[in-house]
Amino acid sequence: MGSVAPFDPELLYVECASCGEPVIWEPGKSTEILHWSGMSILEIDATCMIVSQGCPHCTPEEEFFDTQIVRLSNEAFA
Ligand SMILES: [Zn+2]
Repeated sequence: MGSVAPFDPELLYVECASCGEPVIWEPGKSTEILHWSGMSILEIDATCMIVSQGCPHCTPEEEFFDTQIVRLSNEAFA
């Protein structure tokens, strides 16, 4: 009792800031982004989402995109 399992970053919703489409990427990438962001997994919960500055759908020539983890209260972290 009292212990909360860490939220699985793979469950974070990812949206493209350019076209507004949900972004689906390979398994493990959300975990990597969380790692790069320097945020603790303990800070992540279901109220967070990842915003990608572009996606393969609208910017197919790019392979990597700047990403930001935000809380749905619009408070930006990264
Ligand atoms: Zn897009």
